[in-house]
Amino acid sequence: MTSVFLEDLDAETYSAMVAKEGSTVIIPTGATEQHGPHMPLGVDAMLSRAIAGVVAESAGALVAPVFSYGYKSQPRSGGGNHRVGTTSLGAAALTGMVDDVVSSFLAQGFKNVVVLNGHFEIYQFIYEGLDNAVDRARTRFTGSSPRAILLSYWDFVDEATLGKVFPEGFLGWDIEHGGVLETSLMLLLHPEKVDMSRVVDHPPAKLTPYDIFPEDPARTPASGCLSSAKGASAERGQLLLDAVTTQVAGALKGELLLGNITLEVQ
Ligand code: ZN
Ligand code: MN
Repeated sequence: MTSVFLEDLDAETYSAMVAKEGSTVIIPTGATEQHGPHMPLGVDAMLSRAIAGVVAESAGALVAPVFSYGYKSQPRSGGGNHRVGTTSLGAAALTGMVDDVVSSFLAQGFKNVVVLNGHFEIYQFIYEGLDNAVDRARTRFTGSSPRAILLSYWDFVDEATLGKVFPEGFLGWDIEHGGVLETSLMLLLHPEKVDMSRVVDHPPAKLTPYDIFPEDPARTPASGCLSSAKGASAERGQLLLDAVTTQVAGALKGELLLGNITLEVQ
């Protein structure tokens, strides 16, 4: 058994892993969302899945199939839900899906659930579904005390790494949609899916400190990117990946009673 991705496992191998002490499943969440002319629609899902894979190998966890539809993209963080290519779920559907999937993993016997998020706007809806599922499991299964962690991977990029990846100064995660962070990670993890000859070169989007309804398409840069990815490189992607995966794995080891469910099972 070499894969940490549970969709690759047969049911008997999977069930032996779930039954182990400290068994942990990581659910990556992303979106189907335009990311400018130089990257595919699946960036958020591809990145959370790949990062979850590295963390799972280090922490002894399994990775669940990725959530590929996100909550509505917004002009102040993802270009907006009006953009062609962006295909989103609403709050009730998302919260229900997270609740159902987490409940099912806990009922099968996982001791820990981690949601590793890659899409800015989805966070609070995962929070709601996860909180409800864990709360219900703790009352339903006597003697069981499942734990869960929710995180967005970019929150683990430390100051030192930020200084190296953004030498001209870091302007905030909200304008990083289609920018240096995501493009550098894609250049490292899925280089064949990035076309650097099509990277836009425009100043960072000017964002209002409020939302308007309906969305005004004129306020999103025509490229769909909220900043330029010109400074992106695989080397910067490696700095980001190392910082994120080391610190996420460290957080999991500190917060959860982890087993090592992947390495020695046939
Ligand atoms: Zn993205
Ligand atoms: Mn996104």
